[in-house]
Amino acid sequence: MSIILCVIDGMTDPRFRAEDYPALSAMSRIRDRRAAPQGCEPESMTCILTILGVTDIPPFLRGYVEALGSDVPVQKDDLILRASWFAVEDGRCTVPMPAPLEINMVVNARYFCLGGYKSLLVLPGLAACAESIGTYPFYRRSEQTVDNLRPTGNAILERIFDENCTDCSCMAPWGQSRMADLPPFPRRAAVICGAEVVRGIAKLLNMALIHVPGATGDTDTDLEAKSDAALQAAQDYPFVLLHINGADEAAHRRDAGQKKRFLSDVDRLVLRRLLYCGHTVFVTADHSSDPVSGLHGGVDQPVFWNRYS
Ligand SMILES: [Zn+2]
Repeated sequence: MSIILCVIDGMTDPRFRAEDYPALSAMSRIRDRRAAPQGCEPESMTCILTILGVTDIPPFLRGYVEALGSDVPVQKDDLILRASWFAVEDGRCTVPMPAPLEINMVVNARYFCLGGYKSLLVLPGLAACAESIGTYPFYRRSEQTVDNLRPTGNAILERIFDENCTDCSCMAPWGQSRMADLPPFPRRAAVICGAEVVRGIAKLLNMALIHVPGATGDTDTDLEAKSDAALQAAQDYPFVLLHINGADEAAHRRDAGQKKRFLSDVDRLVLRRLLYCGHTVFVTADHSSDPVSGLHGGVDQPVFWNRYS
């Protein structure tokens, strides 16, 4: 018997009720756990590493983990940032918009479109600047002005931002980081996911990354293929991380109906199969994601367990 840990990204919000989901509510709610360590942002990388038992998380890691997960090559002295694209109306950022394939790049830096609203910036030779740069993480954005999202502390980064802001779109850099190592996960483990950040976590912790065709990291993901892959992996690995990202993305789009429909699909196509699968299953969220504000929250997160299995 193996352990399957199912992390439903951004599952909870102020209106979330486990009773709305038959398979989830058939599990035991065993405890609530703190979303992120004291003083840390409630963002997926930190929260998921914490769930996996990592205690010493380097402070400048997020962009690097995304680069790992996206197979973007980086060097030891690179400064790496996530960048998220938003539509702008009257000087305020509104909803995520697709990242362009290329941007205006007038300095020595590299840009990578990751699909959806996500992109990466790699600035050679600036790794030591991570501490002195100020950015505003997009998941704290609530109708932020473009000026509020302007990075500070590095002229090159500020110039990239300015060159790529228009009256109708804005690229918000955040998650400044550099290469780092973490100890490997202490047991043989497999990871099933679509989100780049979780792929990066798998590589960073030396966990086996199972490729699942149709796993997109959004609400259009193939949930049946992911649950198949998790159950298959549990035959070979004593620990399986199954990460499902769509609810968080729907919340960022401030689409409460889409978030709830997706969670119902997860309940029917994933959790119902895990409920009596013969393995020990835990289900939790990394953090909350409110589809009204579009923001993450750091409140304690419930942990469910398939006690009958
Ligand atoms: Zn999020």
